Amino acid sequence: MSDVTPAAERRPLLRMSGVRKTYDTGAVKVEALRGIDLAVYPGDYVAIMGPSGSGKSTLMHIIGCLDVPSEGSYLLDGAEVAQLDETELAQIRNRRVGFVFQQFNLLASMTALRNVELPLVYAGVGKAERRRRATEALQRVGLGNRLDHRPGELSGGQQQRVSVARALVTEPTLILADEPTGNLDSVSTRDVLTLLDELHDAGRTIVLITHEADVAAHAAIRWRIDDGLLSETDLPPAASGPEEGGRHGLG
Ligand code: ADP
Repeated sequence: MSDVTPAAERRPLLRMSGVRKTYDTGAVKVEALRGIDLAVYPGDYVAIMGPSGSGKSTLMHIIGCLDVPSEGSYLLDGAEVAQLDETELAQIRNRRVGFVFQQFNLLASMTALRNVELPLVYAGVGKAERRRRATEALQRVGLGNRLDHRPGELSGGQQQRVSVARALVTEPTLILADEPTGNLDSVSTRDVLTLLDELHDAGRTIVLITHEADVAAHAAIRWRIDDGLLSETDLPPAASGPEEGGRHGLG
């Protein structure tokens, strides 16, 4: 990357300090997150790996402002998320975070173009502008020739590319991908991971949650979550970004 500003002078896009999440089901309390400290800087590509039950979804929900911490601080682009009201949180989810889910979450009755236009409908963007931006986003993911196809007329890999286009169309601050290749065959997996690599190369900030080491290997920064606590991985550095090694801290 061409950015030469020292890390110490740059503001993290995401910063968590002492984030804990406790689910209180009445009979038992489950401590899903037990004190998470992390910083993600603009342009970072971070993978968070962990086994089932380790707290990945809980952490993702908090990063994506779908839930708030029980304790601790979470700053998204300088704003303390716990202090935002429901309307402000909904706006962040719609405009600042581009979600990519394992199950694609596309509406089956709508064309690819309409699916990608949807976040812009919620954001109040006019029809002509919506159409232009959604078309551009679909061209960006290599689906300019599939605008009028419905999800059922597309392969799994193509459907996931539509959902990446939907995540991109609002020009979000962060792309948050939860097991984005979990439902894909190996060819489509490569396809989607290459697309995420390209978005990272173009300067996008990506946080990817996965339980697969070879998927995490695409990210320059790899963290592990176990039993609600985050640590560095012992995976070798990614080929794409050795210079990104050390400056990103947990804590
Ligand atoms: P992962 O995504 O890594 O599988 P989760 O974040 O879903 O892990 O879960 C972490 C822990 O929190 C697990 O022990 C899980 O059973 C518990 N948990 C998750 N969601 C809830 C909930 N809504 N109520 C109670 N316990 C929950």
